[in-house]
Amino acid sequence: MKIAVLSTNKNLYSTKRLVEAIEQKGHEAFVINHTKCHFRMEEGSPQIFHRKKLLSHFDAIIPRIGASVTYLGTAVVRQFEMQGTFSVNSSQSILQSRDKLRSLQLLSKTDVGIPKTVFAKYPKNAEVDMLLNEVGGTPVVIKVLQGTQGLGVVLADTEQSAKSTIEAFSGLKENILIQEFIKEAGGADVRAFVVAGKVVGSMKRQGKEGEFRSNLHRGGKSEVIELSEVEKQTAIKAAKAMDLSMAGVDILLSSRGPLILEVNSSPGLEGIETATKVDIASKIVEHIEQSMAARKNQFTPLQDEEE
Ligand code: ADP
Repeated sequence: MKIAVLSTNKNLYSTKRLVEAIEQKGHEAFVINHTKCHFRMEEGSPQIFHRKKLLSHFDAIIPRIGASVTYLGTAVVRQFEMQGTFSVNSSQSILQSRDKLRSLQLLSKTDVGIPKTVFAKYPKNAEVDMLLNEVGGTPVVIKVLQGTQGLGVVLADTEQSAKSTIEAFSGLKENILIQEFIKEAGGADVRAFVVAGKVVGSMKRQGKEGEFRSNLHRGGKSEVIELSEVEKQTAIKAAKAMDLSMAGVDILLSSRGPLILEVNSSPGLEGIETATKVDIASKIVEHIEQSMAARKNQFTPLQDEEE
């Protein structure tokens, strides 16, 4: 098969590992930089150009779309979908995973636990009292809707600090979520890597001393962790609710059970493969092989039964 990894840099750990796994399994690997693509649309022939060259057909793509280029990246994925190429995560599922409000709305339809969260557009101080009450009062976590890597995530200990933080974000015309603070998580969270409805690796990330955010980009450290059955099922259900075949599910361990924080559609491989020693890149390629085989069977006409 011809399989392309959509990535802005062929030297990134995740990109290199995916290329390695594709080739090890006897397929042809390509790296397409989605920020260097343009399309042509006319009746019946959606075309994609990469670095000005028309691309031929790929059987499958593995999108690794950074948050800063979601719009363009998902448009490239959509263009491949129009050509009948299989994408490990669909353009629509990547798009919805990038919005914290939309994700929580989708998750709240299911029975997986999520932290109590409220959203209101630029609330005034009088409304803020009501919103804080709805999530159980301070301390609360205030989050910018499209933040990543822990940026735009603020812990407000008191009503006063919550109000001034909300006022500052509203002044900047930033939409925010107000969320109950899960203190017992102790500055740690769990990343469960889900491929095709199975947890293939999991790690615990602990924020550095005095930091409530566990993001590795903020100096957090990771270690391998074995999840309970309930935690595994929660991660699997969350990936399914977001319609993601490949997902990095972030979970807070609370006194009332696992709570989903976020479901990432382009989860990095370096942290999880290093912590778990599991070859997750190969699991992703195996998922492509199985999905393509299932597709083929779907399109193969049934033989007439012999009389
Ligand atoms: P980002 O997408 O920017 O990583 P998150 O919502 O995942 O933002 O938050 C970053 C980190 O902050 C999480 O990994 C977690 O450690 C901590 N955190 C976020 N929300 C809460 C919360 N409600 N209670 C306790 N800790 C939280």
